[in-house]
Amino acid sequence: MVSFIVHGGAWDIPDELVDAHRQGVARAMQIGWDILSHGGSGVDAVEKAINYLEDDPTFDAGRGSFVNAAGEIELDASIMNGTTFRCGAVAAVQNIRYPISLARLVMDKSEHVLLAGKGAVQFGAENGVQQCSSNDLLVGRELERWKDLLAQKNYSTKDAFQKKKSLPSDTVGCVALDAAGILVAGTSTGGTPNKYPGRVGDSPMIGCGTYADSAIGGVSCTGWGEAIIKVVLAKTIVGLLEVNGGDTQAAADEGIYRLEKKVEGFGGVIVLNSQGIPAFSYNTPRMARAYRTTAMSDACIDV
Ligand code: ASP
Repeated sequence: MVSFIVHGGAWDIPDELVDAHRQGVARAMQIGWDILSHGGSGVDAVEKAINYLEDDPTFDAGRGSFVNAAGEIELDASIMNGTTFRCGAVAAVQNIRYPISLARLVMDKSEHVLLAGKGAVQFGAENGVQQCSSNDLLVGRELERWKDLLAQKNYSTKDAFQKKKSLPSDTVGCVALDAAGILVAGTSTGGTPNKYPGRVGDSPMIGCGTYADSAIGGVSCTGWGEAIIKVVLAKTIVGLLEVNGGDTQAAADEGIYRLEKKVEGFGGVIVLNSQGIPAFSYNTPRMARAYRTTAMSDACIDV
């Protein structure tokens, strides 16, 4: 049994952007599925599917990411192997085209879990990852958004998430169960629009935006990072799965319920259990997602 689930953010995705989101998660799904269904590793499936989404400017990850308050693009990502418990993460890295690959390098080649800022970039350079230019990451849509937000006095991410519930939240993530029974989760993001320089969200924090334990389940989250961190959402859901007999839908729904109830948070989650049973849950108007298991003849894709 192999299984794969992908998300491309949870928010009030406008009608005119639905197709681009659908196509993006469908393509990422296909990339991950091709690897898994040919006996490839979950780590490869997660990394390569996320690389595709990091290239697709539709999403807030890699190219197309939000711009911070200083006019820079700072990226966060993490990946975790649920069998070895090895994990790697990078936070607030600049000029990195594929942050999930740098996170994988931290997992594979360093003795650390999380490297931030210049140190992460230096570690990448020492291992053959060169910096890209800002123009490789910046798209016109985000430059315009940044200018608009700068012009708005008293703009607050918290208000945007809580009052309007429409803040773009286009982070990407995947969870894979490979033929060896290894669960792998990964997440990559540009964070939130106009974030304070150095701000780090849930995505690179193991247990918050990403978690995997092959004996129980794997999770990737998206949404308002400051709230997701407070309820340690990914690990909370894995903890729920551990005691509910592996019911992925119940654990995903309870996780989102706690996110909203305890910290007024908004977002979405994707989950696989140790058997590869998928589920997703969100309390935003829409969430881009796709999933497939060996038991399915085709992927289920929706926004
Ligand atoms: N969770 C991400 C963050 O707060 C944003 C997102 O999901 O789009 O950095």
